[in-house]
Amino acid sequence: MHDPTPEQLAAWDRTVVWHPFTQMAEYEPLIIERAEGCTLIDIHGNRYLDGVSSLWCNVHGHRHPRIDEAVRRQLDRVAHVTLLGASNPTTIALARRLVDLAPPGLAHVFFSDDGATAVEVAIKMAFQYWRQRPDPRPRKTVYVALGDAYHGDTLGSVSVGGVERFHAMFRPLLFETIRLPAPNPYRPPEGVAPERLREHCLAQLERVLAEQHERIAALVIEPLVQAAAGMIVHPPGYLRGVRELTRRYGVLLVADEVAVGMGRTGRMFACEHEDVAPDFLCLAKGLTGGYLPLAATLTTDEVWQAFLGPYAESKSFFHGHTYGGNPLGAAAALATLEVFEDEETLLGLKPKIARLAEHLARIARLPHVGDVRQCGLLAGIELVRDRATKEPYPWAERRGWRVCDHARTEGVLLRPLGNVVVIMPPLAISLDELDRICAAVERGILAAR
Ligand SMILES: *Cc1c(COP(=O)(O)O)cnc(C)c1O
Repeated sequence: MHDPTPEQLAAWDRTVVWHPFTQMAEYEPLIIERAEGCTLIDIHGNRYLDGVSSLWCNVHGHRHPRIDEAVRRQLDRVAHVTLLGASNPTTIALARRLVDLAPPGLAHVFFSDDGATAVEVAIKMAFQYWRQRPDPRPRKTVYVALGDAYHGDTLGSVSVGGVERFHAMFRPLLFETIRLPAPNPYRPPEGVAPERLREHCLAQLERVLAEQHERIAALVIEPLVQAAAGMIVHPPGYLRGVRELTRRYGVLLVADEVAVGMGRTGRMFACEHEDVAPDFLCLAKGLTGGYLPLAATLTTDEVWQAFLGPYAESKSFFHGHTYGGNPLGAAAALATLEVFEDEETLLGLKPKIARLAEHLARIARLPHVGDVRQCGLLAGIELVRDRATKEPYPWAERRGWRVCDHARTEGVLLRPLGNVVVIMPPLAISLDELDRICAAVERGILAAR
């Protein structure tokens, strides 16, 4: 059989492949064939800077020799071993390494394959924990989550999610969640000054916990930044306040670091910025450096202990995914962590974070830029119809997309979140490449006017 022609590939990509979060009636194929560092190359040889880390997961660039080599070495041993009652050295070593790196108290690792499953696991473990612990609290069955939260697309993760456009349709299928407004400094509630937002939101949370803690199993949160919500950066101290309150009221804290973990915020884990140790830490996306699907849910010894007992008592966690903890993914993850050390990735991030801030300060002054938000090497630029009233552009105007479409003509690949342009390149991006991405965004915003 001959290799398909570019025309065939495009035709099949339009009609046979069903792309996620994509309107297939309008989809225009973009077919990436290979990559080098932070550059993606399509089947026609066009080169694009990867401005959103291949959907927020690439860390050290594509085709990093260390990670490539680690995957190849693992391939020479075995590609897959089940974790259902068995194990392999690579996955064990990764679990050990993650526990060493994670905030204190997180001593056990449950592997799955995607961010959604990492959160799903935390939700189910929390539920089962309350039923099985020595002093059971079976009434604790409800979850607290934030407005506009995004925790993945399986039904449990969607239940704690709160993005109207994605999730409203599925409401009849979802379990009950107590929803609190996201602390959004750009759009604070009526009458609340931005500097009082943290206090206001924590007081609101405390009221809910005081009244209902007896039925609340856990609170699920994206620490520091609600990424899919449009890169909403929480006020400083909010996360720590949430940890103090959940502890005081006996509610488990699930930290979904699928987007913000693995160095994105300038620290390995976002929780470190506020000295927070959650009861569950969910990792995926960047865990393998953006190479392979692998996710981890870390938890405490207290949770682990509640699942121990004689076989006949059926206290096991009856949950698993065939490829969870896959050794190829684990090899990529271990190599990713080694590269963090060898290349001093977090140290090297400082000038990049500062440079991004400089660009954003300039971009903030452009017409129709309502807000710029940054946390580490992650930024959101919110475009509004009217800066004074913060009136959003109608969704259908595809404002964010218009900026990204322009950037693509300059060889920069981006994907917006509605009216928010996202800049989230691999941590390995060079200052030069970062300048090119930001310049393309800037010209895109001017061109899209
Ligand atoms: C992307 C994301 C998820 C879902 O991860 P998948 O690997 O796409 O299932 C969950 N939580 C957050 C915060 C995310 O950004």
